[in-house]
Amino acid sequence: MLASQNRHTMQRRLVLAALKLTDRPLTAEEVVRVVQHRQRVSVSTVYRNLDVLTERGEIFRFTDPRGVHRFSGVPQSLVYCTCGCCGQVESLAADRVSDDFRQRFPQRGIRVATVYLQGTCAVCAKPGHRKGAHRG
Ligand SMILES: [Zn+2]
Repeated sequence: MLASQNRHTMQRRLVLAALKLTDRPLTAEEVVRVVQHRQRVSVSTVYRNLDVLTERGEIFRFTDPRGVHRFSGVPQSLVYCTCGCCGQVESLAADRVSDDFRQRFPQRGIRVATVYLQGTCAVCAKPGHRKGAHRG
């Protein structure tokens, strides 16, 4: 019993660590790939742990503008920029982007959780890049 509890704790830590490695929000499939690179864990175990961690508020889940569920291990207001060409998603801490997030919104009682931007990633912005020629 204790051994299985330890295993559950360790699997949850691996999922959390996968998300903490990057401030880019990952899809469930990407989390599975990172975790399985380190240890044999079933896909359903990773998904279950993503649910548990989301319920506990240790990570959060959102749907990007393309309708893809993504998970972030950064527990703060974030600005997400989605590449309109390949769908790559990058994130920045909101309070590093604008004082409004740190001061003006809280002064008005507004708690901003997520801001979405649409743009073009560095790869797709390169001259001569063909739409859909790479995948983020
Ligand atoms: Zn792109």
